[in-house]
Amino acid sequence: MKAAAAPSTTGQRLVHCPGCGGKSVFAPSNRFRPFCSERCRQADLGAWASEAFRVPAPSPDDGIESGSAA
Ligand SMILES: [Zn+2]
Repeated sequence: MKAAAAPSTTGQRLVHCPGCGGKSVFAPSNRFRPFCSERCRQADLGAWASEAFRVPAPSPDDGIESGSAA
C-alpha cells in the first residue's frame, strides 16, 4: 500500500540525464548511460572537450626581449 521511492518492479534504475535532465535508464542495456541517448552523450563530451581544450591566452612577447630601444 505504501508508495515507496523504490524503482519500478522492472528493476530498471532511472537517473537524470546529465545532458537534457530527462529520465535515463541506468542499466547495461543503455550504452549511453548515464545519458539517455547518444546525442546527449556526444553533446556532453563536446562541452567537456571544449573546456579541456580551452587554453589561457598566451603571454604576449613572453621571453622575447623587445622594446629595448630607449
Ligand atoms: Zn538526455
